[in-house]
Amino acid sequence: MAITVKFFANFREVTRKEQERVEGTKNVASLLDDLVRRFGEGLAEQLYSPGTRKLRGTVNILVNGRGIGFLRELDTPLKDGDVVAIFPPVAGGKLTPGELKRYSRQIIIPGLGKRGQLKLKQAHVFVAGLGGLGSPSSIYLVAAGVGHLTIIDEQKVDLTNLNRQVLHWELDVGRSKAGSAVEKLFAMNPNVKVNSKLKRITPKNVNKLIKGADVVIDGMDNYPTRYLLNKACVRNRIPFIHGAVEGLVGQLMTILPKKGPCLKCAVPREPPKKPVFPVLGATPGVIGCLQAIEAIKLITGVGKPLVGRMLIFNGRNMTFDEIRIKRDPSCPVCSRLSR
Ligand SMILES: [Zn+2]
Repeated sequence: MAITVKFFANFREVTRKEQERVEGTKNVASLLDDLVRRFGEGLAEQLYSPGTRKLRGTVNILVNGRGIGFLRELDTPLKDGDVVAIFPPVAGGKLTPGELKRYSRQIIIPGLGKRGQLKLKQAHVFVAGLGGLGSPSSIYLVAAGVGHLTIIDEQKVDLTNLNRQVLHWELDVGRSKAGSAVEKLFAMNPNVKVNSKLKRITPKNVNKLIKGADVVIDGMDNYPTRYLLNKACVRNRIPFIHGAVEGLVGQLMTILPKKGPCLKCAVPREPPKKPVFPVLGATPGVIGCLQAIEAIKLITGVGKPLVGRMLIFNGRNMTFDEIRIKRDPSCPVCSRLSR
């Protein structure tokens, strides 16, 4: 006899197992210690708040179908034959009293309501890049209660990033952006499940990475990766919110596969590459916030998305202009999709 542990959702991803048998453990705390020894720090990151042995708000544990209680009683005893289930609560169809209060000022927005807030809670947004655009967009998505965020960046924080990448602070210089970001976002709103990935987006992994996302945010600083994301989003029918900045100028467009032009229709060729380009931090601040608004609109159904229109923000003259964009019938990415 032994204890059977069943993993669900992200816990299944990190352990790569549906279940595991564990022997000789006396309570939930020692069981979790044993599992972390077997499956490594990746599991510890999903289970515990950073730097602690306290369970994250996004972890549910049942022992023989019974919760271990609001107090997260890790000393709940275990015996042979017990079945322990570990899963995230984000699939829940209800807003808690705490959530209703936290989001009360946006729930009263006409058209959003409790129904829209619940949609946000059940949504999964993929933020590609945690720099000048990914910082403000992920901050506002987490603050708004998007239930599940996947964030990805392969880089480490550099001193030259700090004028615009507001998720990363002086004390983070030299550490991974993914690690720095997940810590800040969790501290901001522990109701949100944030998966961070320290990876480069490549033609090989892009489809797998964005799988299951409801919206993808373009927080990249280069066109090859943007095009890769654009193509994968069109192919997988996932809305893609493009943003880009240089100096005091920024652009924004929402790509809804089948419903409007894609990034390749709007920007068919990669603009000339510059090894270092100028950016005033508030410019990606503006565009990243607009990307968060577009994502929240798509998820909740509020308003009219920026489809078939490219918004150009010019901070130098403080103007917002709109360029109509049509689907290119010979676009190599989206022309084969039926309307
Ligand atoms: Zn296209």
